[in-house]
Amino acid sequence: MDELIKVREILQFTLGGSVLEITYMIASILFIIGLKMLSHPDTARRGNIWAAVGMALAIISTIVFHQQDGEHIGNIGWILGAIALGTIIGTLIAKRVQMTAMPQLVSFFNGMGGGAAALISLMEFPHISQALITRHGLLNGQVLVILLGLMIGSVSFAGSMIAYGKLDGKIGDIRSGVLRIVNIALLVLLLGFIVYIMSLGQVEPSNVMYLVYILFAVSLIYGVSFVMPIGGADMPVVISLLNSFTGVAAAMGGFLYDNQVMLTGGILVGSAGTILTVLMCKAMNRSLTNVIIGAFGGGASGEADQDGHIKQIGVPDAAVLLNYSPRVLIIPGYGLAVAQAQMLCHELDKLLERNGVDVKYAIHPVAGRMPGHMNVLLAEADIPYDKLLESEEANQQMEDVDVAIVIGANDVVNPAAEDDPSSPIAGMPILQAYKARNIIVMKRGMGKGYAGIENNLFFDEKTNMLFGNAKESLQQVVNEIKNM
Ligand code: NDP
Repeated sequence: MDELIKVREILQFTLGGSVLEITYMIASILFIIGLKMLSHPDTARRGNIWAAVGMALAIISTIVFHQQDGEHIGNIGWILGAIALGTIIGTLIAKRVQMTAMPQLVSFFNGMGGGAAALISLMEFPHISQALITRHGLLNGQVLVILLGLMIGSVSFAGSMIAYGKLDGKIGDIRSGVLRIVNIALLVLLLGFIVYIMSLGQVEPSNVMYLVYILFAVSLIYGVSFVMPIGGADMPVVISLLNSFTGVAAAMGGFLYDNQVMLTGGILVGSAGTILTVLMCKAMNRSLTNVIIGAFGGGASGEADQDGHIKQIGVPDAAVLLNYSPRVLIIPGYGLAVAQAQMLCHELDKLLERNGVDVKYAIHPVAGRMPGHMNVLLAEADIPYDKLLESEEANQQMEDVDVAIVIGANDVVNPAAEDDPSSPIAGMPILQAYKARNIIVMKRGMGKGYAGIENNLFFDEKTNMLFGNAKESLQQVVNEIKNM
């Protein structure tokens, strides 16, 4: 502790009173550089580290240098204890988590951020400056920031927990028109309640704390009810929206404490999440208003009319078809991540290219279970970025593709999105594998995708099903081609 005080004195002497502002500025720059690096798979890992260093710097400098009314932060033992506990639990969870359970973990961590922001508001409401209340009653910016932070943070917490349960397969979807009305009513109630609390005049905040607890409880209920009906192929939008909520709630904390680094961090997460939400809405052909009131997709079963038969293909035939086709397009999906077959996928690609086949990958924005899931997975296997085609570009070339090889993908190639208006994925742009000259689908059986609906592509006369775990099937095809 003595050393800490000495370091603090030396730094304050050399840098003057602005030492905290300078460290916050450095931390903010590290966040921005880190975020920029996250936008490319090659630099994403380093970007994460840069941002983490920025966060560590922000936390340490707050503990060491922050002062209020000339007093440094107290309860250092409690703070360090909580940080140590959080670090141990976080590290253990992150180390043990299966790659396929990452989306759930991301949702869980996001919820924790929202919950922390909500707790800040709950803690700070009774401490609103008396001078402010005497002048303006509760009708002031500080109260608005606290109440909005509480509402948004709580919605993000509760919503993320439900998203966690859904991604983990523990919670199903509840689709009902009533929920839509309930959601609109809850949203209006929440906003009206904030206005009501602010209009109470010059009251002692601790005397109206019960109202703040009601706001907290209703926000939690809304968080649950707005994510509950969302399912099928619409989860990616809600996940990115919840992400932006957490950022905005943290930014509210930054306003409240006049803390630049918290504000910058919150705004970065909030705006990145918002941009991602807009992109996801576009990718899914959905409207943002519908997300907020929890009314998504079609409600009907979306069952396929399976009057056709499926056609199976053996490994030797699949290998011949692939090896002697001029153009092959690989369409990866969630099953590739489950099978952890990305390395083998790259091996097949290199082998085919060596034999004169042109191989490309088509990436659907919501393939997998996380935004950017397929990009990360393929980058892990060192697949060159210029081989990846976005949906639109891939679809433009699809008719010239000799073999579209669908590896563990289902919903993102399901034609029901285009031809069945009652399908839960109706309107979602898909990878139009059905337009390719031949289609090979690698999956374990006739299992459904995340949206839980049948896929007519598997019954298409151009489609050949190669059943088995994607990793084993790919290994067998690779071996076969090597022996040709
Ligand atoms: P899907 O979830 O639609 O389908 C995956 C398919 O992979 C299944 O049909 C399964 O069939 C097969 N599979 C599973 N394990 C293996 C394995 N080991 N080997 C081979 N095949 C396997 O995946 P898509 O990528 O096509 O679509 C993603 C879906 O997830 C979309 O509906 C999307 O909206 C949703 N989603 C996406 C998020 C995101 O941010 N990207 C977030 C949340 C949801 P079988 O059991 O027969 O093998």
